[in-house]
Amino acid sequence: MRTKLKDLQRQGEIILKERGIENYRNDVFCLLNKHFGASRADILLQGERDFEEETVLAYMHDLQKRGDRVPLQHLLGSWEFMGLPFIVSPDVLIPRSETEWLVEYVLNKYADRPIKVLDLCTGSGCIGIAVKKLLPQAEVTLVDISALALEVAKQNAEQNGVEVTIEKWDILQGIPFFLEKERYDVLLSNPPYIKSEDLKDLQPEVQKEPALALDGGADGLLYYHALAKTWSGLLKEGGELIVEAGEDTAENVQKIFGEHLKDATLHYDLANLPRYVTATK
Ligand code: GLN
Repeated sequence: MRTKLKDLQRQGEIILKERGIENYRNDVFCLLNKHFGASRADILLQGERDFEEETVLAYMHDLQKRGDRVPLQHLLGSWEFMGLPFIVSPDVLIPRSETEWLVEYVLNKYADRPIKVLDLCTGSGCIGIAVKKLLPQAEVTLVDISALALEVAKQNAEQNGVEVTIEKWDILQGIPFFLEKERYDVLLSNPPYIKSEDLKDLQPEVQKEPALALDGGADGLLYYHALAKTWSGLLKEGGELIVEAGEDTAENVQKIFGEHLKDATLHYDLANLPRYVTATK
């Protein structure tokens, strides 16, 4: 039995709407594209095209999973960040659009310089890899505690055709011997910043992301202390620490940075929430 594209769309929308998926229409478009290679225009103009049962079953299986709140990005296996493709697995945080600010900030400020960059808690590698791709003269090192995440970061570097250095390290354990002699122009980080007790209240999709990438300790500030106190020691004179933070913790992050660095500055996201902090050595 074969099923028409327009019926696949309708069935998908019914299933996901019923399961309470907010952007269900968009998710159906993405899954139709994954399984049938259909663009939005195809769905509109070629709704009579039909497909074999086997492909239809795989599509239905993904719809069930999405209904069970598996993140759309995990089903697609990849996601865009700064217009670049990134492989996404349950071992890494899904790249968020608000994190693009960090990359844009670096591009705006350092476009004319051959900077040395360290991306701490790199996860999928999205920040450091996007910087290297868009600012090829930069020298970029990615660090993460998770070997599984670094495997994804490595594939992402290859997929985007960039060369970066990748190191496995827990940044809460101080600076390792293999980095202690290095000095950087820019330290970038979007560290875990959710307060531990808030993890259980996150939406079900986010709870399927690695807790390691989200849990910022009791006050959500654990990693910022380490970044300001210890890791800023790797900045050159005039070098800059640039981070994303939680809307409820960014002001505290600014204070912490102010205790160890100069010009600690708060920046706001598109929703006008305090979201980023920069500071200079
Ligand atoms: N640097 C990655 C990102 O911004 C991962 C961050 C993390 O795991 N906390 O998406």
